[in-house]
Amino acid sequence: MTTNFQMPVFAPLPVAFTRGEGAWLWDKEGRKYLDALCGVAVCGLGHAHPEISKAICDQAGKLLHTSNWYEIPLQAELSERLCRKAGMENVFFCNSGAEANEAAIKLARLYGHQKKILNPAIIVTEGSFHGRTLATLSATGNRKIQAGFEPLVTGFSRVPYNDLDAIRTVAEHNKDVVAIMVEPITGEGGISIPDTGYLRGLRDICDERGWLLILDEIQTGMCRTGKWFAFEHEGIKPDVLTLAKGLGNGVPIGACLARGVAAGVFKPGNHGSTFSGNPLVCRVGLTVIDILEKGKYDKRAAELGKRMRSGLQKALQDVSGVKEIRGQGLMLAVELDRPCKEILTLALERGLLLNVTADTVVRLLPPLVLSDAEADQIVSGVSECVRLFLDASGAQAAIA
Ligand SMILES: *Cc1c(COP(=O)(O)O)cnc(C)c1O
Repeated sequence: MTTNFQMPVFAPLPVAFTRGEGAWLWDKEGRKYLDALCGVAVCGLGHAHPEISKAICDQAGKLLHTSNWYEIPLQAELSERLCRKAGMENVFFCNSGAEANEAAIKLARLYGHQKKILNPAIIVTEGSFHGRTLATLSATGNRKIQAGFEPLVTGFSRVPYNDLDAIRTVAEHNKDVVAIMVEPITGEGGISIPDTGYLRGLRDICDERGWLLILDEIQTGMCRTGKWFAFEHEGIKPDVLTLAKGLGNGVPIGACLARGVAAGVFKPGNHGSTFSGNPLVCRVGLTVIDILEKGKYDKRAAELGKRMRSGLQKALQDVSGVKEIRGQGLMLAVELDRPCKEILTLALERGLLLNVTADTVVRLLPPLVLSDAEADQIVSGVSECVRLFLDASGAQAAIA
């Protein structure tokens, strides 16, 4: 008889947490873990942040949901705060990252149709991740995520990441392109950081051609990379910006923001969602922005990122099997020369939570509220796990 009633799409590690505080989690047995993943860049302000808990409790005692058939003042307030912060003009709220990208994709297609392009195409990149809904998995540059779900949604044209010439080539052959959609730094794809000038180059191409630049900042946004939004590193602005993860610190909220021509595309009836932008999630979004601003967490993420990167470099640069240590702000990667899933268990046994993505990349997305000591503890824990793993797998390779 089956004892697990969950569809087996996830393969969780054998641990369950019951309580959290800041960068720490406690399991059922009372064991303590340092969280260098924070729910995949979601709990940027750590677990059980007192101001956020208070906002949730207070709002839950007042009003959770009324639907978008009525005005929602907290949604209007969060819209303004987010737009001013990001330099955008308007916003559609939703409940996840994939939905934010769905909104962006629909917006781009409608923009195309408004320009009399009947089969609008969106340029997307290899190694990207945009979500698991049909349109967003079709946009995603990873066959593993698409396989078995054909027919895929059409209208995406794929190019290598960090390659502006490839986009110019597509532009010459495909007159139906209406937009480019990219992550400023890939998240699930292994923390690939494009060359300086890539985003600016994308901006220029979009300006020359009248295309929309859609930046998926679902992972990079909300101070994660050391700026409020990763596009600030290159002093450009997208036409469409998608956010989710860190915006709600654990309550499900996504956002698709637009500017310029893109801000005028959606009209009443073009898009919607029942839960979207309810008073609870918007209250939390506002609280998250307040805390990030007050604590100058963009600067803090930059500072902590530098500290951790140089710490990892010191500890691991001469270790054979370590290919590269890279990152921006608190989006950090240690790339190995071999698949390294086993590191997850090694780390768990040592009370450290991290992630492995793209098979060979140890990915760290710690909360922005780390103390220097906690940051150093993550660095030494990760370094120890990487060494242990490489020693063990090296020994295995020698036997085989
Ligand atoms: C996580 C993520 C998504 C998908 O978000 P969900 O909330 O899981 O739907 C999309 N794009 C990027 C860059 C992400 O990191």
